[in-house]
Amino acid sequence: MFSFKDIIGQEATQKRLIQEVQEGRIPHAQLFCGPAGVGKLPLALAYARYICCPHHTETDACGTCPSCVKWDKLVHPDVHFVFPIVNKAKGGKASVCNDFLPQWRQQLLASPYFYLNHWLDSMGAENKQAQIFAQESDEIIRKLNLKSSEGGYKVTIVWQPEKMNPTCANKLLKLLEEPPEKTVFLLVSEAPEMILSTILSRTQRFNIPKIEETEVAVALQTKYGVQPKDSETIAHLANGNFIKALETIHLNEENELFFNLFVSLMRLSYQRKIREMKQWSEQLAGIGRERQKNFLEYCQRMIRENFIYNLHRREMNYMTLPEQNFATRFAPFINERNVMGIMDELSEAQIHIEQNVNARMIFFDFSLKMIVLLKQ
Ligand SMILES: [Zn+2]
Repeated sequence: MFSFKDIIGQEATQKRLIQEVQEGRIPHAQLFCGPAGVGKLPLALAYARYICCPHHTETDACGTCPSCVKWDKLVHPDVHFVFPIVNKAKGGKASVCNDFLPQWRQQLLASPYFYLNHWLDSMGAENKQAQIFAQESDEIIRKLNLKSSEGGYKVTIVWQPEKMNPTCANKLLKLLEEPPEKTVFLLVSEAPEMILSTILSRTQRFNIPKIEETEVAVALQTKYGVQPKDSETIAHLANGNFIKALETIHLNEENELFFNLFVSLMRLSYQRKIREMKQWSEQLAGIGRERQKNFLEYCQRMIRENFIYNLHRREMNYMTLPEQNFATRFAPFINERNVMGIMDELSEAQIHIEQNVNARMIFFDFSLKMIVLLKQ
């Protein structure tokens, strides 16, 4: 894990990083930025591991030396992590990243492709806001003052530096201005515009592009056993975001349920089968509030996709195979005359769900309105 060979796609980026190390021009501070799910953090990890490995080859860390062995468990003494946390300390004290190191390692070992939300869940953040607190700067300085264990580089990986408290950011700035010898800072950010401009100007910015669709598809097949045809569809939907692709695999089941519910509603409303529509609403009422909200979002997406489908711009469409098949017959029913009306009804239903209105009523009402709207 955490080697270049484990990265999804990004071949050109990998080559560039390897070249930096081989030519002995490792910048003391780099900012990895780019859209979500493209592998910024995995790249930073593989790059750091490559720097740490005294026996790295032309393509990757060796994988077997003492440094690499420590990397496998994320226990390398010269590698430090800074990331947003919530405050769980008691008695006026504040938490530091080290308090959450076991959870952090677990998260990375499960997969280095994850969103902040996933991390918040792993941390048990509940509804607290995560940030990098002011006192973390003292920790960073303390760790950098430790002697490097093997005389090599000391690497600090800062995930989401935009979540850094200003006091901490200013102390970090001092370190970037006068970096201790043989230290490397890797900042991994999705929102570089929220980082202090003084910090930005001290880092070498590295823009990481989206992952190629084919690379995502291949990874889904080889690493997750997804069928070739499905993997292509998921990769297209993911649009270069590997976390999204992973979520799609996990969501497949729910997606199938929503698809079936959507199709039956449209058929029943079109055929004016009032009694079945009532049964349909009862089924919806039983799936729980969160899923009801997700279902309404799903309906909005389907209406939008079917509307776009009529424009014959296939590259603009993001649908699974069964959804596409359904669209060949259903799309003509979604047009300029009714698309806004349907979307309005769906957002109204969402608001009513939020307000705890009786779900059976909300969904039955919506199905009745669809009878009229589908004929427009
Ligand atoms: Zn090694």
